[in-house]
This record gives sequence, structure tokens and C-alpha cells, in this order.
Amino acid sequence: MSDSRTRLQTVLKALGLDLKAYEGSDWTSRAPRDGAVLATVKSHTASEAEAAVQGAHQAYLAWRTVPAPVRGELVRRLGEVLRTHKAALGELVSLEAGKITSEGLGEVQEMIDICDFAVGLSRQLHGLTIASERPGHRMMETWHPMGVVGIISAFNFPVAVWSWNAALALVCGNAIVWKPSEKTPLTAIACQHLMQQVVDAFNAEKPGAIPAGLSQLLIGGRDVGEALVASHLVPIVSATGSTRMGRQVGVKVAERFGRSILELGGNNAMIVTPSADLELAARAITFAAVGTAGQRCTSLRRLIVHRSVADTLLARLEKIYQSIAIGDPLADGTLVGPLIDQAAFDGMQQALAQARAEGGEVLGGERVREDLGTDAWYVRPALVKMPKPTKVMESETFAPILYVVTYDGDTEQAIAIQNGVPQGLSSAIFTANLSDAERFMSSAGSDCGIANVNIGTSGAEIGGAFGGEKETGGGRESGSDAWKGYMRRATNTVNYSGALPLAQGVRFDV
Ligand code: NAD
Repeated sequence: MSDSRTRLQTVLKALGLDLKAYEGSDWTSRAPRDGAVLATVKSHTASEAEAAVQGAHQAYLAWRTVPAPVRGELVRRLGEVLRTHKAALGELVSLEAGKITSEGLGEVQEMIDICDFAVGLSRQLHGLTIASERPGHRMMETWHPMGVVGIISAFNFPVAVWSWNAALALVCGNAIVWKPSEKTPLTAIACQHLMQQVVDAFNAEKPGAIPAGLSQLLIGGRDVGEALVASHLVPIVSATGSTRMGRQVGVKVAERFGRSILELGGNNAMIVTPSADLELAARAITFAAVGTAGQRCTSLRRLIVHRSVADTLLARLEKIYQSIAIGDPLADGTLVGPLIDQAAFDGMQQALAQARAEGGEVLGGERVREDLGTDAWYVRPALVKMPKPTKVMESETFAPILYVVTYDGDTEQAIAIQNGVPQGLSSAIFTANLSDAERFMSSAGSDCGIANVNIGTSGAEIGGAFGGEKETGGGRESGSDAWKGYMRRATNTVNYSGALPLAQGVRFDV
């Protein structure tokens, strides 16, 4: 048995999870660290998808009347179970998605954090009271659940994205149906298993507390996702993945006047101004560009550095890139694990070839650590000096490629380069100049959903709203008031005057 299979058995045991009910031959879960097959699972069918949505809808009809703080208690318990199983679930993330140990654990911590956030939120789903122009009237807004939230997720955050949506959707009174990436079915099965444990324990204590079918999982590919997207019983579709996927999903959901929360590709940039702390910048650049092997939606892909500091910064980066520890994500000291699969490797090589053709000078980018498995795809992160912003820099390649361009003028010039791509997820500026920092965050500054100062582009906290503009899709998830995306708003006016005055002074005497 391969090392990954042995580790999987230990993890499954710790989670108390038996995969039997899911076994089949439709989808293969591989360990990117050594290419070993972890398991093969069966796909749900279109009719099973329909039945899941029907069941979730029935659950919603009961769940919407449960007081929100009681709904919060379910999410609190989920957070507790995740705390207990953090090590095992984190290792499963590393096994199936190839993340280094601390990032696998970090992803589970993010799940715990959003559960905590959502528990507090369950007592805070409040609307405004608004001054009425009519005497003896009160006007207010109330927020209500929507129905079934369909969650479609990508391979690179195989568990956190589900939890961002699930925790909020559940406290908001919705039911959930999740279609995870076909590349990461096991982590999804593990989450569903932990959720079911929580539901069963809650119901054992308080019979009927949690309606059957409230949280469901659909294993499958694009066809299963499409069934979710097409269903009129799914008023909200929260879809995380490529812009290509979002373009299809967004149109389909809009056609039936559903609501979509789109979290799509990024093409994130950092500006380094002459006043920047270059050592701090170099560390932030490295984590953002090579962390998770460049497979975060917020990974740093473009560096826009002032010519006066470019040589110093690049010399430092080249040194770091040459010494960075690449290897088994589960080994101590590894900072860069593998790409998800060969297709990701091929995509990276194509982008590098295009960059060369467009005048780029490529450092790194080659395959390394072939000793770890013929189907394990490790690369040296690539640093690519470009003569100017070119076509290849306009699209997201999901791999550790950092394009570097210089600017000579003022910060406006750098901001224009940064904004000159179709995506708008995350951005950063490194500067000690207050005007540059404020300009970057102003209405004339970064056009992204995330604009950081002296922090890299990746690694957001759950307390803020997460998402981006333009081809990133415009959705917001996680903290702040992102919960409003999972509820509908009603404006209520109450007349206690005994008269019937009309708004805007309209008279209509009968
Ligand atoms: P992907 O688009 O290939 O797949 C994402 C999910 O969409 C999968 O579950 C897939 O089965 C499903 N899907 C694909 N086509 C569909 C369709 N027509 N209808 C319904 N479902 C469909 O993405 P991936 O390769 O798994 O993930 C990488 C991408 O995800 C990158 O572009 C990355 O930037 C993006 N991403 C974005 C965020 C964000 O929050 N903005 C977070 C993580 C990943």
C-alpha cells in the first residue's frame, strides 16, 4: 500500500468515516504528493440531484421557522466537531489537495473561525428602522431565509469554501446542497460525515430539532453542478471556480431570476513603491506567489515594482526562489507542495512558453522532485521578468508564476497597470508613503474587492467580506455583511394612526 493510502486509512479512522457508501468508479481521488490513487467514488445522478434538492427544500420549510439563535447552536456544534477533528481533516486536505501541513490545518481553522462568526451572527440578523414620512407610521426592514443554497466549489479550497457558505446559509435559515470539485470528493465526504454526526447528536438530544435533508452532498462533475444551477428550487447558487465556469453558471441562474454569488478567478497584483520596506515586501511576495504552489484565487501573479528599487528587490527574490523548500507537503519544512495534476503542469508550461514569446525572461518553472512519483507534479516557482505588461499577463494561470514589470512614473501609473486586466480580486501596495497608500485605497485606486497595504494579496481573514469585481464575479462571502447575500429583505410599514395618509401627499378620497 502506498504511503498516501496508509495515511488515508489512519485519517479515515480518526474521522470515524467509512467510504463504502460512496465507492464506485466514476471519479478518482488522487494524492498530488505522490500521484497515488486514494479512492474511486461514484457520481450522483441527475435524478438523485433532483431528489436532494427536493429534500433540502422540505427541510428549509421547517428550518426557516426555527429561531436564528437555535440555528446558530447547530453551527456552534459543527465548529466544536471541527475543533476535535482539525488534525485529521487538515491532513486529508493535504493528502487530497496537496497543501503543506500548516495550510491544510489553516484551512480547517478557517472553517472553525467562520462557524464562530456565524454563531454570533445568528443573534445579529437585524434590519433598519427607517423614519416614515407619514404620522403614526413605523417603517422597518426584516430579513428572511431564501430556500436552498446550492454550493459549487473548486479543488483548491476543498473544505473552507463550503464552510463559508454553509455556516452563513444555515444561520440565515436556508438549507444547503453542495457539489464539490470532482478532484476532491473525499474531503467533501468527510465534511458531510462530520455535519451528519452533529445533526444526529442534536436530534438524539432534542428529537426533531434538525430537519432531515438540511445539509446534502452531491458528488459529481459538471452535469451534477448544472442540475443544481437549473433547479427552480435553488434560489441562490454560490459558485466558486474559474471565470469560464462562472460565465456559464451566472447566465443560467440569471435566466430563471435566481441569485448567484460568484467567486471566480483572480489575477492579483502588488505594487512596490520606492519607499517600501523591501525585506517585508520580499517575504510577503514569496508567501503570496509561491504559497499553495500558486493555486489560490488570491495568489500573487503580477509584481509592479518601481524601477529605482527593482534590481535590489529582484536580487533578493531570486535568492529566495532558489532556496525555497519544494517537496512532500506533509514533510516538515516544506513550503511549496505539488500542483494538483498534470493538466496544471501543462498549463503552466504553456503560459511560460507564451511569456518567452512575448519577450519574458523566465527563471525557474521547471519540473522538480520527479523522485516523488511519476504522476506527482512539482515545479520550481517561476519568476518572469517581462519587458512590459503583455497578453499572457491578462489571464490567470493556476500555478506559481510571478510576472514582474517595472514602472518609472508615479503611483497612478502603477495603479493603471494593476487595473488593466479583466479580473479584480485581490491587490496590494507596499509603501511607507501615506499618500500612495491612501490613493491606492481610494475610489481612483485599486479596482479590486481586496486592496491591502503592506500585506500580500493572499491569506484573508474571515471577518471581512471576501470576493472581487469584474471577471472575478462580484460575489461576497464570509464576514462583514456578506450574510445579506443569503437572505431576502422585506420592507414593512405599520400604520397605527387610525387614518390613511398616502405617501408623497397623494390624495385618493373614496
Ligand atoms: P473549475 O471552474 O474547473 O471548477 C469549479 C467547480 O465548478 C467544480 O465543482 C466543477 O465541477 C464546477 N463546474 C464547472 N463547470 C460547471 C458548470 N457549467 N455548471 C455547474 N458547475 C460547473 O475550477 P477549479 O479548477 O476547481 O478551481 C480553480 C479556479 O477557482 C481558479 O480560477 C480560482 O481562481 C478559482 N477560485 C476562486 C475563488 C474565489 O473565491 N474567487 C476561490 C477558490 C478558487
